[in-house]
Amino acid sequence: MATEVLPRLKGKRHRLERPELLAPAGNLEKLKYAVHYGADAVYIGGQKYGLRSNADNFTFDEMREGVEFAARYGAKVFVATNIYAHNEDIEGLEDYLRELEAAGIAAIIAADPLIVETAMRVSPKLEVHLSTQQSTLNWQAVQFWKNEGLPRVVLGRETSLEQIAEIKANVDIEIEAFIHGAMCSSFSGRCVLSNHFTDRDSNRGGCCQSCRWKYDLHVPEQGAVDEEDLFTMGSKDLCMIEHMPALIESGVDSFKIEGRMKSLHYVATVVNAYRQAIDTYFENPDSYELNPAWVEEINKAANRPLNTGFFFDTPGAEDHIYEAEDKAAPYDFAGVVMDYDPATGWATIQQRNHFKPGQEIEFFGPEGFFKQIVGELTDDQGEPLNAARHPLQLVRLRTEHPVRPMDMMRKRINK
Ligand code: SF4
Repeated sequence: MATEVLPRLKGKRHRLERPELLAPAGNLEKLKYAVHYGADAVYIGGQKYGLRSNADNFTFDEMREGVEFAARYGAKVFVATNIYAHNEDIEGLEDYLRELEAAGIAAIIAADPLIVETAMRVSPKLEVHLSTQQSTLNWQAVQFWKNEGLPRVVLGRETSLEQIAEIKANVDIEIEAFIHGAMCSSFSGRCVLSNHFTDRDSNRGGCCQSCRWKYDLHVPEQGAVDEEDLFTMGSKDLCMIEHMPALIESGVDSFKIEGRMKSLHYVATVVNAYRQAIDTYFENPDSYELNPAWVEEINKAANRPLNTGFFFDTPGAEDHIYEAEDKAAPYDFAGVVMDYDPATGWATIQQRNHFKPGQEIEFFGPEGFFKQIVGELTDDQGEPLNAARHPLQLVRLRTEHPVRPMDMMRKRINK
């Protein structure tokens, strides 16, 4: 039976000229919210062969449910299988790939030729997308992978927009590029800091982000250079919301957001902002203007300073974070709307962080947002509460405008 595509999305997705918006989904709930907030495709991790061993990785049952949910919106699900495999990883790979194919996964994202070749041989319905872990940066390397039969290459994050346009001009292949999220301070995928410091292999999903730890500098004979002044080696996060026309016109086919370990609030907020920017551009490219509200939205979820990575220039010292990070997101995720009664104006909220009457909150969803102050608060039986204290607790409050299930509620921090 054909899966129904929601009427509001018909004709909006997967047009050739409109880039795909590809979102991270660390678990099934994040997958559903990413798709609901406008992702055309999501990438997830399974129980094996992925690079986020700490993410809440999907079972095959969860994958099937995610694929079915995404299909209702016309969206696809990809699975990251992008480790560099050792001999002991070979056994079980064929069965794993066949299971992914049977679960309806549209593509795997792979780096190791073992996984690329095996998938093409045993699971022909699974597209194979070359992972950014291969650090592909030039059109002849892209041509090589096209000749191998791959329909898509995820470029290394170190590629400029000019280089991407040149790749697109030379090779007829889908190009996916990271447009938002954390960057490695070393060359993508070629870092062993985590391996050395914690014995956790960053190329097998174990990176513990050692570059963001705080260090002090000891010089032989001198001792500590400045014990007060600790430093980090982390990079600023990538954000291209202010450069949509340049990004679209470079020919990138898939705009990828980083962050399978990030929160539900982060995923929904970032996807929502890029969805609006892309759709606004395609409504009328000539009159497109950046809406400052999209930037504001992104900043509500950003907890590190932002930059444009390698797209316009090679990052310099100002693109790294050497001092203790002082940018805290100004809002915190407070809850999700489960239900709304238009007759009374009361909403049922599932609590995700502490909030209480008198606090400033914002509701937002794919259709817009509004602020209000929390008024009377009750539990789901109508008993008054002086705070929503418990994770996942169902509480009720009156909203100043109608809300919908899957809308989110955030609170201003320190208010
Ligand atoms: S430690 Fe930092 S630079 Fe190295 S792989 Fe992890 S995030 Fe990237």
